[in-house]
Amino acid sequence: MPPPRQQSRFRKEVWHAFRQHDSDDREFIVCVDCNKRCYPPHDAWEADHDLPHYFGGSEGVPRCKACHRIKTTEQDRPAIDKARRVREKHLGIRKPKHKWPKRSFGM
Ligand SMILES: [Zn+2]
Repeated sequence: MPPPRQQSRFRKEVWHAFRQHDSDDREFIVCVDCNKRCYPPHDAWEADHDLPHYFGGSEGVPRCKACHRIKTTEQDRPAIDKARRVREKHLGIRKPKHKWPKRSFGM
């Protein structure tokens, strides 16, 4: 998670790139997955890296909270975890094995 300042700048960039106006001149942003209109501050929306930050990150896109959660848990998280496992295997990084404590006689 980037520091809050950077996060808010990223969010601002997405907002300015994707905001639209309706007939009442209210500003809203559309979720790229479900096309739901989000009217801030009433509706929660999140700025998402379409390509996860771990893989270099891409331009941000707006997603509603539900779609962002689904994308993160079902696509991004497994991909990132797998990439990390492959990387750690390549570098020979292993978790230390659990050892049973040695039995000490006479103490
Ligand atoms: Zn959505």
